[in-house]
Amino acid sequence: MEFEGADAWLVGEEGRGVPQILEMGSLTRLDCALGTSGLMRQALSQALNHTAQRSAFGKPLIEHPAMRNVLADLALESEASTALALRLARAFDRPEDPHETLMRRLLTPVSKFWLCKRGSHFAQEAMECLGGNGYVESAGEGVLARIYREMPLNSIWEGAGNIMALDLLRAVRKGEMADALAAELAPARREHAAFDRFADSLPGRIDDAASETDARRLAQDVAVQASLLKQHAPDFVVHAFCQSRLAGDWGYAFGTLPSNVDFDSIIQRAVPNPTTT
Ligand SMILES: Cc1cc2nc3c(=O)[nH]c(=O)nc-3n(C[C@H](O)[C@H](O)[C@H](O)COP(=O)(O)OP(=O)(O)OC[C@H]3O[C@@H](n4cnc5c(N)ncnc54)[C@H](O)[C@@H]3O)c2cc1C
Repeated sequence: MEFEGADAWLVGEEGRGVPQILEMGSLTRLDCALGTSGLMRQALSQALNHTAQRSAFGKPLIEHPAMRNVLADLALESEASTALALRLARAFDRPEDPHETLMRRLLTPVSKFWLCKRGSHFAQEAMECLGGNGYVESAGEGVLARIYREMPLNSIWEGAGNIMALDLLRAVRKGEMADALAAELAPARREHAAFDRFADSLPGRIDDAASETDARRLAQDVAVQASLLKQHAPDFVVHAFCQSRLAGDWGYAFGTLPSNVDFDSIIQRAVPNPTTT
């Protein structure tokens, strides 16, 4: 954009415009993470509400095993996303704490990348729970269609996915990050063998991170969601999350959780409770 003959006021040091705008950019990236996790929760609530009321093949959709797998999988993803977005918000709230300063620097690009990437897939699956009424936007329907349309924007603006992954590489080059990340993962140690294997490898990968080719993979893996769930969710959530997301007992679409998952408890936990508004 060019401005000719316009008055302007310096809001920072001359020649340092990008660092200046990134101060704001880091806050709006937090917005993208929070906004996406909020949209996920809204989409999940819509899906739970609809499937409890719509009957097909003789009973409510929410009682069909294949649908229960989809809803439980979405509930896990939603809770893990909320946990990560709020973890990042805590880092912003405590600027005087050195560990939180490191977490803010590390988890801002990670959360913006990972949550916004998951958001579009999540919204598509939640929309599908409503069938055709999820897709159409006329006659008062269409909340999920609007959520689905909104999701990719949070991924693109304020720095698209690759930009976030490259920013993560810059962040980890500052040193100290491996130890801070190990401390962040510590609360979930010995909870699940897959988590321990994952947590053992991650600080070393942080120290070695250099390749732009691997940057997205690193951003995905640094999302410390299993550790956060261990601190804030019951065991059936933590176990199902580790089993599917870390142990590889999962497919490439939502609704592919292994059959030993506690579907009833996960869905019950996600159902909005009208008495606690
Ligand atoms: C609805 C809307 C509102 C907006 N509002 C504002 C606003 O108010 N103010 C404002 O300043 N901006 C605004 N934007 C701009 C927005 O922030 C940018 O569009 C966004 O950051 C992407 O930048 P770009 O469009 O220049 O894409 P590009 O930088 O051209 O990126 C295109 C693709 O290339 C990738 N890419 C770029 N560089 C690399 C690299 N080095 N290695 C690998 N891949 C790379 C990106 O990840 C992306 O996938 C808005 C955008 C939208 C859609």
